Amino acid sequence: MSVFHATIVHTPVRGELQVLRDCLIAVDTNGIIGAIHSNVPTSASPETFLTSEFHGLPVRYLSKHQFLMPGFIDTHVHAPQYSYTGSGTDVPLMTWLNKYAFPAERLLTSLPLARDVYTRLVRRLLRNGTTTALYFATLHLEPTKILADIVEDLGQRGFVGKASMDRNAPDDYSEHTADAALQSAESFIQYVIGKANPLVVPVITPRFIPTCSLDLLRGLADLSRRYGNLPIQSHISESHDEIAFVRSLHPELEHGNGCDTTIFDSCGLLTPRTVMAHGVHLTEKNISVLKQRGSSVAVCPLSNFYFANGIFPLHEHHLEKGLKCGLGTDVAGGYSPSMLHSVRTAVVASKALALTHPRGKEVEVDWRTAVWVATVGGARCLGIEDQVGTLEVGKVFDAVLVDVGDEVVGAVDVFEEMDSLERVVEKFIHLGDERNVAGVWVQGKKVV
Ligand SMILES: [Zn+2]
Repeated sequence: MSVFHATIVHTPVRGELQVLRDCLIAVDTNGIIGAIHSNVPTSASPETFLTSEFHGLPVRYLSKHQFLMPGFIDTHVHAPQYSYTGSGTDVPLMTWLNKYAFPAERLLTSLPLARDVYTRLVRRLLRNGTTTALYFATLHLEPTKILADIVEDLGQRGFVGKASMDRNAPDDYSEHTADAALQSAESFIQYVIGKANPLVVPVITPRFIPTCSLDLLRGLADLSRRYGNLPIQSHISESHDEIAFVRSLHPELEHGNGCDTTIFDSCGLLTPRTVMAHGVHLTEKNISVLKQRGSSVAVCPLSNFYFANGIFPLHEHHLEKGLKCGLGTDVAGGYSPSMLHSVRTAVVASKALALTHPRGKEVEVDWRTAVWVATVGGARCLGIEDQVGTLEVGKVFDAVLVDVGDEVVGAVDVFEEMDSLERVVEKFIHLGDERNVAGVWVQGKKVV
């Protein structure tokens, strides 16, 4: 249990920043926010406001340069690629996979190496305020179990997927048959379910259509159903070379215009718990299918600039058409593990799109909207919006303590006489980094 006296900053309404000053916030033993009272003077007695279960607890009073905000939700991150994050962005997607991604992932059959890479990544994400992450791991069972263990040990909310692929992959980095891939996927599911830890969830993870046979895709959909509709993740309509590859693999579909959405859908992989990465080249028809199924897209703007041959039209697909969207770092296709970076790049991407768009600035997305997508939007993708995404009574306390005070060595300078609190938040979103993260809680437990 804990009690804070703090300013809350979050986005319950898309596009609007809500700042609640001088809040008394009580978090119960289950990590659930039991009470929030705003405009409580520091001189007031907390007992006047809180029910007896919170009486007698020490109150943590935040300074005027600190505030609490909801943790970020990274809806697309490749854990094994963390080892080369910040490098290797010089080639197109299909080449990049063979040159960088597969070799790096294969190396993690060394369990000590897997432990090192995964520990450092999960710590890094937490330090950056990412309280929930949707992870892609490798094909291999044991290293992926280690990732699930580390997520659990370090206290993050983690959706973890053991990647599946049985075709068009290097000989020494393929599961070769659908049966072998399904068996391994099921073993991982059982391992994670065996933890009985609601913070760690197994995810059905066909890598993408080019590396998954139709038998494997159908079998994975069946696995999801058999284990109570497990979440599903993959990649969809990411880049020109990927789309061309899918067409060449399935000339029988749609007169040679077969696409990811049709194939995933026909195999039963589009569900309300499906999060597809990228979707840069989704057609109108694809979007209406995804919407009908309740599936969502993890938008990864930084990675898209390098690999996608296009920009995801966030304003049109999300704000106008209502496609569910979250934001993702796409480590290591995206070179930064910071969701602040994703937020900023989402804004920049929309501005780049607007430059040549017939409707110009109308299709831009502002930073408040991008913060909403990175918090509430991600929670909706994962079906946990009743638990996280904002700081409200009844939700769990997945929170970041931001500090922009003078004593913090960081890039944010605050000018007392001129900066409103809203402007300080805006500065943090644009200039802040992990140096400004003074604490992180998941389900009420302090993890940083
Ligand atoms: Zn990816």
